Amino acid sequence: MSCRHCGELFLWPDFMDRLETARHRVGRPFHILSAHRCSLHNARVGGAPLSQHLRLAVDVSLKGHNKGALIHACQSAGFTGFGYYTTFLHIDLGRARHWFGGQKAKDLWQTYLD
Ligand SMILES: [Zn+2]
Repeated sequence: MSCRHCGELFLWPDFMDRLETARHRVGRPFHILSAHRCSLHNARVGGAPLSQHLRLAVDVSLKGHNKGALIHACQSAGFTGFGYYTTFLHIDLGRARHWFGGQKAKDLWQTYLD
């Protein structure tokens, strides 16, 4: 959960508890592509200036996951922010909102939403 670039940690027990709950509900391991980013790393990877990754947000690889089950588990674990991408699902505890990482991602996820 530390910054990949410098190892900076962002400790947030409630976030980790929810992630653990979601993982248990899915019944499969979560491969985390990105978690906490220090401000320098966030800028380098082109993250939004106010990205939740500056606190804690995780991008979970979709490999080996059923998208519907993944969304349901994360929603029921209390996550509020969802970013839908073609290869991963971004989840955070920020303001309730969602977005798509482009039209391809929208097409891919559409059937699993609402
Ligand atoms: Zn860093």
